[in-house]
Amino acid sequence: MSSTARPMLEVEDLRCSFMTPHGEVRAVDGVSFSIDAGESLGVVGESGSGKTVTAMAILQLFPITAKVRLSGRIMFDGVDLLRTGGRHLRQVRGAEIGVVFQDPLTSLDPVMPVGDQIAEAITLHKGVSRTVARKRAIELLERVGIPDAGPRSRDLPHHFSGGMRQRIMIAIAISCEPRLLIADEATTALDATVQAQVLALLDDLRRESGMATMVISHDIGVIAAVCDEAQVMYAGKIVERAPVRSILTTSTHPYTTALLHLVPRLDHRSHHRLRPIPGSPPLVAGDAIGCRFAPRCELAMDQCAQTPPLVAVGDRHVCACWLASETRDGAVVSAQTKAAS
Ligand code: SF4
Repeated sequence: MSSTARPMLEVEDLRCSFMTPHGEVRAVDGVSFSIDAGESLGVVGESGSGKTVTAMAILQLFPITAKVRLSGRIMFDGVDLLRTGGRHLRQVRGAEIGVVFQDPLTSLDPVMPVGDQIAEAITLHKGVSRTVARKRAIELLERVGIPDAGPRSRDLPHHFSGGMRQRIMIAIAISCEPRLLIADEATTALDATVQAQVLALLDDLRRESGMATMVISHDIGVIAAVCDEAQVMYAGKIVERAPVRSILTTSTHPYTTALLHLVPRLDHRSHHRLRPIPGSPPLVAGDAIGCRFAPRCELAMDQCAQTPPLVAVGDRHVCACWLASETRDGAVVSAQTKAAS
């Protein structure tokens, strides 16, 4: 991106609360980030970190009965999606921004052949004839790796395996050539081999089409496999963002480091134990005064629970932790790393 070009998606101070019988539940609390055209951003964190709600807020895909309070700005192509009309939002959904969710069985129509489901999305957004849309649907099924795509386009979703159904969901999501594809825990329910195949497919599609991807996962290993940038969320806030390579080699935030300790590594000895993160994430995101990770952080200091940490900002690296600081050459480092070196 040139220094003057605006990002394709710019989220500013996004806040999202759900009004429940027990009061207001803050799920996302002042989140700001951007995605450039063609970029692959990974959003990682445990359940309740706010990563899925952030994605749902972008397209306002909340259940119709949910009482949601949204504020901030979500600029996509110069239009604020929080303030645009329903007609524009419907055009953006599917045509400009595609989405793949974790469970294809709940997203696919169980009584409609998969080819028709893809063709329906194309007809709706592109205004082409049914014949053209059907032909394109078969091409898409071939592209996402469904064998015998022509005859199989007439099959119902339950005739396919979980991995194949997820490929069909990807075919629907890319059917209108979106500029951004959001994949929310899209490979979580798949076994490791199929997961690797689906991740490779997502990466190939991004590289050949130039679309951006926002990959959401609780597994930092998934993010490392297909993303250039990683954004770590905890209790409704972004706690660290950096290029994936930096995160893997010099993660600065203790929560990011803890997530990395949950991932098996080939370069570790076979009896190396994974280290679970002690405790649980808070149920309500916005109640802590200081750092929200403090109750679970092995490095917490007195000030951590009292005062929100300052955000250290370097070149392509931000980290919200009292131990993080920016060096003169624009790197963000942790006092722990400095002490160990
Ligand atoms: Fe841990 Fe304190 Fe950093 Fe929070 S600010 S992650 S509690 S060291």
